[in-house]
Amino acid sequence: MTAKIIDGKAIAADLRARIAGEVARLKSAHGVTPGLAVVLVGADPASEVYVRSKSKALVEAGMAAFDHKLPETVGEADVLALIGKLNADPAVSGILVQLPLPSQIDSQKVIASIDPDKDVDGFHPVNVGRLSIGLPSLVPCTPYGSVMLAKTVQPSLAGVNAVVIGRSNIVGKPVAQLLLAENATVTICHSRTKDLAAVCRGADILIAAIGKPEFVRGDWIKPGAIVIDVGINRVAGEGGKSKIVGDVAYAEASRVAGAITPVPGGVGPMTIACLLLNTLRATCAQSNLPAPAI
Ligand code: NDP
Repeated sequence: MTAKIIDGKAIAADLRARIAGEVARLKSAHGVTPGLAVVLVGADPASEVYVRSKSKALVEAGMAAFDHKLPETVGEADVLALIGKLNADPAVSGILVQLPLPSQIDSQKVIASIDPDKDVDGFHPVNVGRLSIGLPSLVPCTPYGSVMLAKTVQPSLAGVNAVVIGRSNIVGKPVAQLLLAENATVTICHSRTKDLAAVCRGADILIAAIGKPEFVRGDWIKPGAIVIDVGINRVAGEGGKSKIVGDVAYAEASRVAGAITPVPGGVGPMTIACLLLNTLRATCAQSNLPAPAI
């Protein structure tokens, strides 16, 4: 059996096109332009690449991008002051602080200073709490995109056994909450889980968010399962060049799974598309307009 490849790139492109349509409608019908402020501290090359691709996607969707680059040595008070200004700026409907932040800055304090209505990353304790008690909220982008991809294969996740490997605040925990909200039976695994392979073999949906290259082997996969690989790991490739691989041994797993996301081209593109969707939703809510029909 060869797994169906879940084409995150194409699914994200389709979502972005629908978002762009809604943005155009918002502008012409209501004179409102969604705007996202991205705060980048320091010059980490990977973060700079992410921020550039986010800004490009925003502009392509017809939104405004406000990039704020701060030096590596900036103090916490200056970052908090900038967030305060962005919270008060009506042209800014969403605020994203690129993580990680340098050690002199308390990330949780910065996240908590963002207006929850503008928290398009969904990391503010208010949005985390709303998600956990089942109220509408801004949902973290990578988990949101991961569940959307699973639902392209199986639209109803009610009653399925979902196994999540990873319990981070950014991916593992929120993805588990979203699966629970879809009525899946959810198991969350982490570095202390006993016999991880056996737990994974019970999964109808397996979501890997570990940060370890090709950690999940083919014989951990239940035949026919949906495998969503969140991992992004840079490893040495052929000819001294580096390449990106996921947390799942793709070649092995795709011989057993029913459907699988590739890396790259799976969850990654969905993260940005969901960021645009969150920015659009935040804009509508702040302008007292109905939520977009997406
Ligand atoms: P973290 O390092 O914050 O969390 C990793 C999780 O994996 C932890 O909960 C950890 O357990 C668990 N883990 C580590 N080793 C093992 C093990 N041997 N067995 C079982 N569980 C283990 O990572 P993130 O959640 O931030 O990211 C996970 C991956 O997703 C990374 O590759 C990251 O690059 C990628 N990512 C991709 C995104 C995208 O857009 N596609 C966005 C965000 C992240 P414990 O809690 O016990 O330490």
